[in-house]
Amino acid sequence: MSQNKEQIYAALQRYWGYDSFLPLQEETVLSMTGNRDSLTVLHTGGGKSLCFQLPALLKDGMAVVVSPLISLMKDQVDNIKGMGISSCFLNSSLSFEQQRLVIERIRKEKIKLLYLSPEGLQNEGTINLLGSVRLSFFVIDEAHCISHWGHDFRESYRNLWMIKKNFESVNVHAFTATATKEVQLDIVEQLKLVDPKVNVGGVDRHNLTYRAIPRKQVLKQIMDVLARHTNEAGIIYCLRRRDVDSISEKLKKLGIDNCRYHAGMSNEDRHTAQEKFAHEETNIIVATIAFGMGIDRSNIRFIVHAGMPKSIEHYQQETGRAGRDSLPAFCYMFYGGGDYRLWSFFAEESSDREVMMAKLRAIYNFCSQPQCRHKVLVNYFGQDYGKASCNACDYCLNELDMVDNALIVGQKILSCVYRVKGENFGFGAGHVADVLRGKMTEKTERMRHQDLSVFGIMQNESVVFIRHMIEQLIGQDFLSKDEKFSTLSLTDRGKQLLRGEVSPILAKPMLAVKKKASAKKSVKRKDKEWGEIDRGLFQTLRKKRTELASEKSVPAYVIFSDNTLRDIAAKKPATKEDFANIYGVGENKLKSYADIFIKIVKDYE
Ligand code: ADP
Repeated sequence: MSQNKEQIYAALQRYWGYDSFLPLQEETVLSMTGNRDSLTVLHTGGGKSLCFQLPALLKDGMAVVVSPLISLMKDQVDNIKGMGISSCFLNSSLSFEQQRLVIERIRKEKIKLLYLSPEGLQNEGTINLLGSVRLSFFVIDEAHCISHWGHDFRESYRNLWMIKKNFESVNVHAFTATATKEVQLDIVEQLKLVDPKVNVGGVDRHNLTYRAIPRKQVLKQIMDVLARHTNEAGIIYCLRRRDVDSISEKLKKLGIDNCRYHAGMSNEDRHTAQEKFAHEETNIIVATIAFGMGIDRSNIRFIVHAGMPKSIEHYQQETGRAGRDSLPAFCYMFYGGGDYRLWSFFAEESSDREVMMAKLRAIYNFCSQPQCRHKVLVNYFGQDYGKASCNACDYCLNELDMVDNALIVGQKILSCVYRVKGENFGFGAGHVADVLRGKMTEKTERMRHQDLSVFGIMQNESVVFIRHMIEQLIGQDFLSKDEKFSTLSLTDRGKQLLRGEVSPILAKPMLAVKKKASAKKSVKRKDKEWGEIDRGLFQTLRKKRTELASEKSVPAYVIFSDNTLRDIAAKKPATKEDFANIYGVGENKLKSYADIFIKIVKDYE
């Protein structure tokens, strides 16, 4: 092993208590110890922070980390300090005196990592301060915020090219979890990175199980999810503030403790909700997408979408918050055509209409098509999905009820679309469903569609069923829908289907997460997942962790992650030597917590 590598592994063990790197980490760390700009795309939970914290530790000078949310900087810094690395943040939440002390420590070159907001970095005083000390490199966290093509676009990120202008000789390293090719190029260009080393990891989150279910009685659907995840942490995302208020209220009335979070609340109320969730005082948060960026709670076990987000990027980002500890986590999407209409209404108003509509169609297809959901997500971000089945989505787990005679169903619907259209402009899904079901309406009568041979050929099927089939036929490119008038027409592939040359894959609408089979599976899953771990001891350790976190006013994960507590509950360490071998225990944490947790193990037995 080269000296550089030896140093890297020694630091990994000493500060983090880990023996090995997660995929792409070693490569990224190695590239950052050199002198070249870089861009790293690594999924949430992939361990991006370590990728820049470790080289910052090894290199001379101070690293400057640009992070979008002031409210999270304290937690991030507490976490690093907990491992014994000198770090601090500088922002408007500090008093004048506190700022003065931080600046003094920076001037004395006592700090390895400094966290700043993009606005803070652009302040003249800060630029001068940074110019007067040795810098190892700059890190731009959540770098996708720089791009109009991405999501969470932030105006203040746009000016970050000023780093290269002011600090020409210092390397800049950009990090993000989700970036399509376009966003990657945009980041490189906007930051004016010079010949950057680009590290792109796999985007697949293999520990997440995805399900997409048509929305119907959403409160009941949410309650079903909560029943599967008692005592586990989860986020329930809603599209509108009023939905957040109403769902949160209704859950409370049903005896489910939860917090709510949206931009219409006061700063203070939002801060309290976020703290309660991060500090594990509450397990459930009902929120709009205003909640979540940089949420570091690593044991979020489920994400519910009570409405469909506007793009796959958003979905990936929001579901990405689950299972950062690599343990299994579950994503439930309850979607409806109304969500599509809502987002297309917003797209109409936007100057980026085409881009927004393409993204909207992609997420709607993700929801409505019966196909491996991991594969769709991975392909969307331009990567291949090697496996034939993920075993971790409703499609691959065989939870979807497939339509047996899909070709015939497809042909019935397509011939109806073809016939009602005739010489006309065409008709929407509602009328097509009426004709297929043999329903007399004013429109049917006026157009004399009761005389068509397709009238009533699906009279035993519900509207929901037929419309669900139509959505899937659109998604599989057998039908196209006029964006303005929502009228349907056949595509070339549709004509092939009518001739029986190709067949669609159609699933019946499923309105609930399958109970029987999944409940059994979920008990098995839980048993397998817990293995040797003493669950009672784990809960006792968790309580202690909450107590310590609240004493120190830090989030629980700053003390230990769930993975560490699980390892303690399995190995039951009796001595400091035993404790040093626990996952995630570095030198500093050994000093701070070994005695406390060894005592709990001893008292428990
Ligand atoms: P990201 O910022 O990419 O979402 P984090 O930096 O929050 O990811 O890391 C996710 C989790 O993975 C954290 O709990 C972290 O402690 C853990 N982790 C990071 N690197 C390693 C490693 N080499 N071995 C084990 N766990 C790791």
